[in-house]
Amino acid sequence: MKTIISVKNLQKKYGDFTAVKDISFDVHEGEIFGLLGPNGAGKSTTLEIIETLRDKTSGEVIVDGFNLDQSPDAIKKIIGVQLQSSGYYPGLNLTELLHLFGGLYNRTVNPHELLKLVNLTDKAKAKYKELSGGQKQRFSIATTLINQPRIIFLDEPTTGLDPQARRNLWDLISDIRSKGTTVIITTHYMDEAEYLCDRVAIVDAGRIVAINSPHQLIDNLVASGFERTTEVKKANLEDVFINLTGKEWRKEE
Ligand code: ADP
Ligand code: MG
Repeated sequence: MKTIISVKNLQKKYGDFTAVKDISFDVHEGEIFGLLGPNGAGKSTTLEIIETLRDKTSGEVIVDGFNLDQSPDAIKKIIGVQLQSSGYYPGLNLTELLHLFGGLYNRTVNPHELLKLVNLTDKAKAKYKELSGGQKQRFSIATTLINQPRIIFLDEPTTGLDPQARRNLWDLISDIRSKGTTVIITTHYMDEAEYLCDRVAIVDAGRIVAINSPHQLIDNLVASGFERTTEVKKANLEDVFINLTGKEWRKEE
């Protein structure tokens, strides 16, 4: 299994506050790797350092053989990062925005192909602000794919979405991975991490407290004698919701 990202003893200080204390992990090529942890744990800081968007205080980061200190530009070329929605000029439609972003990467883009990947072809002439929450997230994932990256970074892509839109994004993220792209994702939804991620790192107060497959972490907890205090039903309220309102792509509006 090839390591595509290697982070060693990463540290980040903001003034005298140390947000990332000592983080080390490897991401394998082709996997979906999750960073989980409470707000303020240091997940976004860690991602933004790897994305070359934020300086580290110390430690080593290697992405696809490129050292972050020596070759940030080489790293930028092979990664896809979700842009802040503030970058989406309100007067432009999705096709125009994709051409614009393609220009930033010095790439000729095929907006139709990109929109097809994220199931937004019927919104090609719509403006970003006219999209639903789920459509906005799908569009923002399309923007990560413009430079045909080897790795994409998704920081809480499903926060605030309704259950269908969330599942639509799960399908999309799985599709992207099945084409060979490595995915690093953060989420506060544990069902999502369990469904999507091959491995997760649980971060707390700037340190990794566990790293493994979701399956193995659960088995380890059970083996330690953990028992749930409440009876587990065969379905939950989200299952009821999905069952009553459907989960197809097209249902979202
Ligand atoms: P997470 O993404 O896990 O919620 P962050 O990486 O955003 O956590 O933040 C980690 C800690 O660093 C938090 O306590 C946050 O307040 C702090 N922090 C993040 N960015 C800055 C900044 N630019 N200046 C000062 N402190 C920051
Ligand atoms: Mg964050």
